[in-house]
Amino acid sequence: MNYREKINNAKRIVIKLGTSVLFDGNGEFSTERISSFARTVSELKKQGKEIFIVSSGSVGMGVKKLGLDKKPGSAVLKQACAAVGQSQIISVYQNIFNEFRISVAQILITEEDFSNRDRFLNLRDTLDLLIKHNIVPIINENDAISAKKSKTYQYSGVRVCFGDNDKLSALVMSAFDADILVMLSDVDGLYDSDPSVNEKARVISVVHDVDREIKALCFNSCGPGRGGMRTKLEAARIAAYSGGIAIIANGKDDAILEKVFSLQEVGTFFVPKEISQSKKRKMWIAYATTVSAQIVVNSGAKNALLSRKASLLPVGITGIRGYFKKGDVVGIMDEDYNEFARGIVNYSDIECSKVMGKHSSKIDGCLGYGSTDEVIHSDNIAILL
Ligand code: GLU
Repeated sequence: MNYREKINNAKRIVIKLGTSVLFDGNGEFSTERISSFARTVSELKKQGKEIFIVSSGSVGMGVKKLGLDKKPGSAVLKQACAAVGQSQIISVYQNIFNEFRISVAQILITEEDFSNRDRFLNLRDTLDLLIKHNIVPIINENDAISAKKSKTYQYSGVRVCFGDNDKLSALVMSAFDADILVMLSDVDGLYDSDPSVNEKARVISVVHDVDREIKALCFNSCGPGRGGMRTKLEAARIAAYSGGIAIIANGKDDAILEKVFSLQEVGTFFVPKEISQSKKRKMWIAYATTVSAQIVVNSGAKNALLSRKASLLPVGITGIRGYFKKGDVVGIMDEDYNEFARGIVNYSDIECSKVMGKHSSKIDGCLGYGSTDEVIHSDNIAILL
C-alpha cells in the first residue's frame, strides 16, 4: 500500500519550519527558500487546502539583529532576542507571501492558551476566522513572555511540555483537527542508524508506530533550534494518535514541500492511527500541557479513577489549589501532591470548595442549583503515567 497517497486527502495542513530552515549556511535569512515554500503554499491553497505555518526563528533572528556572537545564555536575553527577532521574521514572511497575494497573520501563543478554556476558544475562533478569510496564520510560541516551567509528565509514552515548536505544532494540529503535520528541519528524516558514524545509514520511509524501538533511533541531531529528533518523534506520536499524518523532512531542500505534496518518497512518513473520538479527546486533555490549578483527592477517589475509570465526585475531593472555571482543564492530585490525572471540570473552584467532601446529592443544597453529580466526568479524565 502506498501510504503517501493519503497526503492527497489532507485538507488542513500544518507546516512547521525550524530555525535551521529559515537561515542559510552563512546565517542569512533564506528568502529564496521561503519564497519557494510560499509558491507551494499558494498552489495548495488553490486546491482548497487550509494552511497553518508554525515558524521558529525568532530567537535566531534576534541574536543576529543584536549582533550577539552566540546563543543567549540567560532566559531574559533569550526573551529579548525573541522580541526583536519575531517582528523581523513576520515582516519577511509578509513581504514574501505578498508576492503570491497571500495575507499572513501573526499568532503568538503560550501553554496556557491550550489549558484555559476561554483563551483556547478565543484562539480557535481567531484561527477559524483567519482561515475563512484565506489568511495564513504564522504561529510561534510567545517566547518574549513565556517563562519555561520545568515540570513534565508522560501521557501515552509522550513527554509533555511546551518549549519547542515540534510539540507546539503537534498540539496545533491535534487541537485544530488538521490532517497532516509536516516538520521541516535540517535532517532528511528518521535514520535507521546513526548517520554520523554509519555511512550506510538510511532514512526510514514509513513508520507505523512510534514505539520504543523507533524512539531508540534518536541520534544526536540538535541544530540551532530547541528540538531534535526526540521532540520530533514525540510530535509525530501526538499527530498519529490524533488520527493525522506526520512527516519529517529536510527543509534545507528548497523544493521539499513540492516534493512532499507531489507524493515523492522524501523524509519519513508516520502512519496515522485509527482513533476513537473519546481517545482523541483524552489525548487532547492530557496534551493541554501546563495547568495552573489542581484538585486534590483522597486515596479512595484516586483508586476509583485509576482502577474503575470512574468519574470524580465531590465526596473524594480534599482540597482545591488555584482558580478555575467550568470547562477549564485542571490537574488531579493525590494527597502527596502527585498529579496523576487531568480533566475538564464541571464546576468552578469556588463551587468545588463548597461541595468538596460532600455526597453528590448535597450539590443542589450547597450551591442552590446543581447541574451534574460529577465534578469531572470520566469521559473527560485522562490518566497520566
Ligand atoms: N520559538 C523558538 C523561536 O522562535 C524556537 C523553538 C524551537 O526551535 O523549537 O526561536
